[in-house]
Amino acid sequence: MKFDDKGLAERCADAEREAILADPGFGLHFTDHMAHARWTPDKGWHDDAIVPHAPLTLSPASAVLHYAQEVFEGLKAYRRADGSVWLFRPEKNGERFQRSAQRLGLPELDVDDFIASIEALIRADAAWVPTPHDGGEESLYIRPFMFASEPFLGVRAAHEVDYYVIGSPAGAYFASGVAPVSIWITKTYSRAGAGGTGAAKCGGNYASSLIAQQEAAENGCSQVLFADAGSKQHAEELGGMNVFFLDADDRLVTPPLSDSILHGVTRSSVLQVAADLGMETVERPIVLDEVLQEIRDGRIREAFACGTAAVITPIGVFKSDAGEFHVGDDAGERTLQLRNHLLDIQYGRAEDTHGWTR
Ligand code: PMP
Repeated sequence: MKFDDKGLAERCADAEREAILADPGFGLHFTDHMAHARWTPDKGWHDDAIVPHAPLTLSPASAVLHYAQEVFEGLKAYRRADGSVWLFRPEKNGERFQRSAQRLGLPELDVDDFIASIEALIRADAAWVPTPHDGGEESLYIRPFMFASEPFLGVRAAHEVDYYVIGSPAGAYFASGVAPVSIWITKTYSRAGAGGTGAAKCGGNYASSLIAQQEAAENGCSQVLFADAGSKQHAEELGGMNVFFLDADDRLVTPPLSDSILHGVTRSSVLQVAADLGMETVERPIVLDEVLQEIRDGRIREAFACGTAAVITPIGVFKSDAGEFHVGDDAGERTLQLRNHLLDIQYGRAEDTHGWTR
């Protein structure tokens, strides 16, 4: 697919766009266009185009509104010092989008078409990719998504599916320095179970995490760490990020991938960059009681969460029914080293030895 630009859109006025780009926040403003394609069993993917970003018209019987047959992705476009715009490992997002679609009974999109749709949108809306302010981390957040648009109330995989890509300028996640966050460990709610949809990036996973997020807020925390749904003994991941600990032997430890954990692109990149920087990395089950005791004993000095939105977010404290476990008031040395190195690759300030950027 080519995703030709059919956009005869009224573009946002330059002055208005510049005002938005000066302070974009996150997920609040959208670019002028979107990529679109349709799928039906007889035609496969068709009608691919770049069209004006505009409200959709959907039948109230559209299957997605009833049975949540939907998947999405999240990645960023980065503007470098020379003005050029780059993507970071988009094929990883494309492959995950295929796995998510497969799990949700949706048609798979070729990774090449996935990337083509994103590149076509960025070409149309290049003016919306922010220029980072001195050392800043502004970017264009890109949200591909696919949903069951068929008007049909029977419970089966839909025969009409729509795919879109929208763009949203994003400001620096940490406006005033990288600050540790507080994490609530919920024992009330689970995010995903064995055989479930935890490894798929589908809207339902996030809908079901919101109540735990409320529980976290009531306990003075900004995010939730979920344990496995079976034993509730093992750390899995946050509502929107993977989790890492720096153990007493200076090893970087993270839970192994499973069908109840999202296979984060940042997680995979952190493991590689850590190895490149000479750190030992371990993927193994992490027993919560053990890790919390080690934090209390001062043997774990750094913990962080990672994902596309914030790259790496230091964790300052874990809270649970068992009390508070303080990791540190400032971002750890390793945490910052990894964070800066990843950002340097993304913004072209460090050599991209793995061919991750395009
Ligand atoms: N876990 C969950 C549940 C997420 O939503 C995300 C964000 N996509 C991540 C982990 C991190 O994934 P990535 O590094 O690919 O953004």
